[in-house]
Amino acid sequence: MSSKLTNPTDLARETLKLLAARRIAPTPERYEEIYFEIAEGKPRQGGAGQALLAELLAALHALPKQTPELKRQIVQIEKAGVARDWSVIPPVLLQAIEAQGGQASLTRAWAELIRELINQWDLRSPHFTATRKRESLAKVLLNFGNYPNLLNEKLDALVRSWADGAGGGGEITPLEEEGAVVAASSEVAVSMQASAATATSGPAAGDWQRWRELLSAALRQGLAERLIGYPGLQEEASSLALAAEAVSSEQGLEFLAQRLRKFWTQLAVQTEHDERVTAALVNLLRLLSDNLLEMSGADDWVRGQVAVVNDLLAKPLSMNRLYQIETGFKEVFYKQSMLKHNLDEAQETLRNMISLFIDRLGGMAESTGGYHSKIEAYAGRIEAVRGIPGLNQLLDELMQDTRSMQLDMARSHEELVAARSEAQAADQRIKELENQLREISEKIREDQLTGALNRRGFDEAFMAEIARAERSGKPLCLAMLDIDNFKKLNDQRGHQAGDDALIHLVKVVKEVLRPTDIVARYGGEEFVVLLPELLLTEAASVMQRVQRELTRRFFLHNNERVLITFSAGVARYEPGEDAERAVERADQAMYQAKKSGKNQVISASGAA
Ligand code: GH3
Ligand code: MG
Ligand code: MG
Repeated sequence: MSSKLTNPTDLARETLKLLAARRIAPTPERYEEIYFEIAEGKPRQGGAGQALLAELLAALHALPKQTPELKRQIVQIEKAGVARDWSVIPPVLLQAIEAQGGQASLTRAWAELIRELINQWDLRSPHFTATRKRESLAKVLLNFGNYPNLLNEKLDALVRSWADGAGGGGEITPLEEEGAVVAASSEVAVSMQASAATATSGPAAGDWQRWRELLSAALRQGLAERLIGYPGLQEEASSLALAAEAVSSEQGLEFLAQRLRKFWTQLAVQTEHDERVTAALVNLLRLLSDNLLEMSGADDWVRGQVAVVNDLLAKPLSMNRLYQIETGFKEVFYKQSMLKHNLDEAQETLRNMISLFIDRLGGMAESTGGYHSKIEAYAGRIEAVRGIPGLNQLLDELMQDTRSMQLDMARSHEELVAARSEAQAADQRIKELENQLREISEKIREDQLTGALNRRGFDEAFMAEIARAERSGKPLCLAMLDIDNFKKLNDQRGHQAGDDALIHLVKVVKEVLRPTDIVARYGGEEFVVLLPELLLTEAASVMQRVQRELTRRFFLHNNERVLITFSAGVARYEPGEDAERAVERADQAMYQAKKSGKNQVISASGAA
């Protein structure tokens, strides 16, 4: 290096020679250094690399924690710089930085944290099952995976909560902050986060496992089991229940929320469809009953029954109303079928009369028709006849014909008179039957078998008693009673014995009750008793008296003594309440009596 070179081409050649002589890898940096060394006649002071190294060393010296380890590392880096042994610098530098800041700002050193995580993972805990642990870990990783320090902190909290073994505090933490990290993407997710977050104060708060179990049970038992008529919807509800159980991530939840929203829509469509079907059925029923009203003509009884049904149809539907409508129609059809047979017979007679009448009319027309044509023929012949003998003969013939006509006419007249009287008799019979029908319609407040009031009669009587009780301010009670094991009696002794037992029961009830009390047959072997002016306890004792009386007065069947018992529920009508409500309470108390072993009387508590 005696003389400085200035020509770039010479400089380049010398640089390459020196690189080869010093056995230095010809990297661009090394080339640059040697080039300047030759150009300036001495090793380049500073240079890009040296300047950087100087900055680095200054920064290392300025670090707050000047530990012996760091001092040793600084010396090592300085030496490497002098020796230009660059490869030594990066690992030493990293160690220094890590010792200084990396781990120090972490809640817990990674190695330690991971070791603890593995320990806790393997430990069995009644609060944190393996599934729960897996889910909460997945959630923390999902939400904080890209934020090492936060991840460290959340994992530490999680592992600590596992170690504490207490209720899910550690799992809640990530959820609370989740909103800030993961953009909330669905209504369901948001509301679930909100409920989880607000519930943190409660003991079982944010218990995801429970939430999922609840949702799944609601879908399976609350919905799927009620969708029997809709296989498609039922399948989807069951499948959603399974999916709800398996949700383990935010994405999974969002996917489930989408499916749920779609499902609700399908359900709403189905419900609307069902409501329309119900409305259409009610309309159809109304149309039928209107038509029945039209066809029943002047038949008062049928009109009355159909009017009752129409009244019921005008109110909102309930099972009770449907039952009453059915009963109403059954009564109409039963009475109709009973009387139809007789009416048919009478009408058949009338029809025969009329056809006879028409036959006779036809016969008359024939003979009179013949007469007319004969008269015309005679008129023609009269014109043509010349001379007395011819006319005499013609008159003879005419006389003969007229005589036979008169005979025909007389016979027809007699037959017509007879037919008319037969028709009148048939008409009379029809009138009688119609009167009978009217009488029955008046008796329709009564049950034909037992003579107790029927349901319609009871409704009227109950209304009247309610009005009376409200006027007088006196109490009004009612008892619902149902014969015990009546089916067995029917099965063992026959239907007739069952009927006789019903008659016997009503007889005994009526004898125990006061004349002002009312007994009605409410259904097959169910009766309702109205007890005006009695308190609930008094009403219950009356029913118990009926029970005692029944055990004393055996029902006799084929000279055998048969014991009939019943279960009863007694309720007091509360002023102003719906009559149906009081009946319902008595019915429920009766049901209680059945459940408590039958043959007893139970009083219903007051109106709710
Ligand atoms: P429980 O003690 O629980 O009331 O049992 P049960 O057998 O009395 O009641 P269930 O309702 O099972 O049966 C009632 C039976 O009453 C069924 C039906 O055949 C019969 N029944 C209903 N109406 C009549 C009727 O007018 N005459 C007769 N003989 N039997 C009737
Ligand atoms: Mg019954
Ligand atoms: Mg019964």
